Amino acid sequence: MNKFESELKKGNFIISECSDCKEIVWPPSNYCNKCFGHVKWRKPSEIGKLIEFSKKENVNFCIAEFEEKIRIMGTLIGEIISPKIGQRVKLKKCGLNDGQFNFTMALI
Ligand SMILES: [Zn+2]
Repeated sequence: MNKFESELKKGNFIISECSDCKEIVWPPSNYCNKCFGHVKWRKPSEIGKLIEFSKKENVNFCIAEFEEKIRIMGTLIGEIISPKIGQRVKLKKCGLNDGQFNFTMALI
């Protein structure tokens, strides 16, 4: 289990950023995929934007983008009337269950 997964399991969403070229490394890794530098781990912004939205059996799913780079899929909770692509979302909860990432987001 890498640091990303062990933190996610505790409910913390962290990302890796290269110490040398400052690129966000996504999917998260201990080394930069551009310059192979070491990374440091930090919390990303909890505010992202809606990229895709779908509904299946009364559960709302979405893909949201954080920090202009990180795209994650999750469930969308709260009042959803007419979601618009690009609308802002906030990360509410995250975790790791049975090896599966799960993210819960809400429109803001
Ligand atoms: Zn780098």
